[in-house]
Order: sequence, then structure tokens, then C-alpha cells
Amino acid sequence: MAFQLQFFGATERVTGSLYVLTAGQSKIVLECGLVQGVRDEEEHNRRAFPFNPEEIDAVVISHSHIDHSGRVPLLVKQGYTGSIYTHEASKALCEIMLPDSGYLNEKEAEWENKKHRRRGNARVLPLYTREEAEACIGQFHGLGYEQPTEIAPGLMLTLFDAGHILGASIVQLDYDDKGTKRTLVFSGDLGYRDAPLMDPTTRLEHADVVLMESTYGDRNHRPVAETIEQLAAVFESARAAQGNVLIPAFTVGRTQDLLYLMAEHQEEWGLSKWNIFLDSPMGISATKVYSRYRNLFAAQLFEPKSDYPELPNLYATRSVEESMTINEMESGAIVIAGSGMCTGGRILHHLKNNIWRPQCHLVIVGYQAMGTLGRRLVDGADEIKLWGDSYRVRAQLHTIGGLSAHGDQEDLMDWYSSFRNRPPVYLVHGEDRGQKPLLEKLKKDLNAPAHIARFQQKVTI
Ligand SMILES: [Zn+2]
Repeated sequence: MAFQLQFFGATERVTGSLYVLTAGQSKIVLECGLVQGVRDEEEHNRRAFPFNPEEIDAVVISHSHIDHSGRVPLLVKQGYTGSIYTHEASKALCEIMLPDSGYLNEKEAEWENKKHRRRGNARVLPLYTREEAEACIGQFHGLGYEQPTEIAPGLMLTLFDAGHILGASIVQLDYDDKGTKRTLVFSGDLGYRDAPLMDPTTRLEHADVVLMESTYGDRNHRPVAETIEQLAAVFESARAAQGNVLIPAFTVGRTQDLLYLMAEHQEEWGLSKWNIFLDSPMGISATKVYSRYRNLFAAQLFEPKSDYPELPNLYATRSVEESMTINEMESGAIVIAGSGMCTGGRILHHLKNNIWRPQCHLVIVGYQAMGTLGRRLVDGADEIKLWGDSYRVRAQLHTIGGLSAHGDQEDLMDWYSSFRNRPPVYLVHGEDRGQKPLLEKLKKDLNAPAHIARFQQKVTI
């Protein structure tokens, strides 16, 4: 029976998710994400797909994060004309995130070409443009949770709430081959049980094969109560030192969690004495989408008639001019800006103005992949380079684990344990240090047939 899965991305790493499923005569692409982080690895994004895009029958995307969706425009550009299935809120987020990704590609190519011209090298083209990204949106097909949909002959797709970010889904694919039924469940990115905004992760009881993320397979997050105390201490010492607080945050997910916590704890954190800047056009647009889908949350982030939570001194700075006024502030600013791993975006300008000042604080609230500037900072770099210039790292660095949008080891174990038949589980979306301990624990505690997915490996379901 031909129900088969092959891994082409996010094997032994956390970005660039890409899996190909064969169901009888149909070929389905599950996830189509960008590789992010190390420049050499990012070259992978330009390589040909390991299949002909014209021969694909359907595409399924678990959620809008670019490492899961960012190569969709490329797939369309190279001839894919079918539907792209995802949750309707993920579709709304992709509508803003993919064109933004296209815009960043154009900027990057422009920058490269300036360098290349000086050296007499050939011109590089953007991976895809903003316009090309906009062109693929029409192929998106938004679904609700728990709404089975036939996406190819005999193949049903059902999405369940993954509790990770708005619209994030666990993907269940049921294939019926003349009465023989098989089920594949892919976790997508799973949420943290203590996450402030999202609903709990859906637990499923049956699968024939499970594909599970393993970002934090080696550790448990600190409880949220501790995070709240840690942040209180950061704000207090930054205020005493008369500095600024920089928070690099993923524009979708972490930014909204932070805003929600800030509104909730504004008094104990003394936030009335600060100016809070949401310095990210994408973060602002994404927060509006969160507002539109507020019915999907466990907690209520928003004031009834507003796209923002009740924080009287919150400024959403969309234009470059507005953003540049923050540069003049030497103290009293809390700046939330992208990108979450300091690989680009406005956070770099704020680092340039603050990282060398001991009275400033840099708060890391999300996963920092290998090779990123954020990871170098977390690993204790004492100097960083920005646009060719070196800066001493003198700001106080804090890593706050309790705000993760990803489940920790306990969540991952717990989610898998709900499958009563203990199906084979393949670990994806994780680095070596997260995957090995999780693999051992799954085998030892749950007697699970667990494996680490390898590049190009094929699994029959
Ligand atoms: Zn994600």
C-alpha cells in the first residue's frame, strides 16, 4: 500500500520544514519552510525542490511561521497551481508574513548586489519578491479546526489546535486505500502548557505514525510565575540604572504573549514609568490578525473595541521615522522589535544604539538557532558586528525560558503519551542536543518505537 512519507527538511535542525507524502497516485507536500540562520545553510533555500512542483497535488502548512511556510511562494513560482491548505487564521497571517518575507529577500539581494558590483560579480536575484509572494495567496485555502476535508482521492485532512501560535495546527492525514485505513499525525509546533494566551494543545489517541517536533526535547521551561518575577526584576534594575530594555521577539506569537503579560502585570512591573514601543510593522499587523481571531484564545488579550491590550503607554511605531525617534531615548524605553533571533529587522538598530551600554538590558524570550546573532549573544559573545562595525557587548543579557511558544520535554512526552497504541514516532524540528535526550526518554519511559528523522529517509505508514 502506497502511503509513504519522506523527510526533506528540519531533520536534525529546527528550520526549513519539508516533508513529502505519497498517498496512492497523489503527492502531497507537508510544510514548505525556509531554512533560517547560518548563511551557508540559507543557500539551501535556492536549491531545486526534490520533486517537480507541477506534479504536486496538494500542500498542507501547519502554521504561518516562516520556517514552515516561507518557501511556498517559490513552489508556486516554480509551477505549483493547486491548493495550499492551512487554518484560516494561519492563512490570514501568511497574507502578511509571506509578502514581508519577499520584501526582505529583495532588500537582501539589493545589498548583495551592491557588494557584488564592487567586486565585479554577477547579479543575484531575490529568492522571491514581494509581488511573487502576494501572487500565491490566492491558492491558500483556510480551514477551521476539526473540520475533515478531502484533499486528494481517499486522503482526509483534519487540523487540531496545537496551542503554539494563532492558527497553529496539528495535522492529521487519514488515508483510505480501498478499505485499508492508515493515519499519520504531525505535531506541527506544539505549545507550552503554561503559555499565557493559547488554548491547550489537543491530545489525540490514535495514529499509525507520528511526526513530532523536538525543539526543547532536552529541557523543561521555568514556570511562568518565575518568568513574571524575572521580568519584574529586569524592569526594576533597568529603571534604577536609567537604561532601556530591548526584547527581540518573533512578530507572531511571542509579541502578543508579551503584550498580554504586560497588560496583566503592568502594576507589579511598574510599567507606567516606561514607554513601551511595539516597533515592528509586522508585529503591529500580526497583532491585528490576533485581534480579528480573538475568539480562538483561552485568555482575552484585547480590550473590546481595540486592536491592542489596555496599556496606556504603548506606542505602535509603524513608520521608519517613528522608529528612529526611539534612537534618541537613552532611558525609559521598552522596545519590542523583530527579528526574534536578531538576524535582521529593526532590533539591529536598537542593538547598535544600546548593546554597548551597561545600563541597558537585552531580554531573550525565544529560541535562538545555531548561527544566529541572537545565539552568539546568548552564548556570551563579548563583541558583535553590525553593518561591518564592531560593538562591545556591555548590556545585561537575560534569557527568559518561561515565555516559549514551544512545548518543553514534559509537554512533548505528555502529548505523545496520549496515543494509546504507542505508534512509531519520528522526531523532527530539533537539534541534536534536544533530540537525543527526548529519544531516550520516549524509549525508556513510554516504551515508544522512537526515531530521529534523517534527511531523505522514507517511512511507510
Ligand atoms: Zn512555529
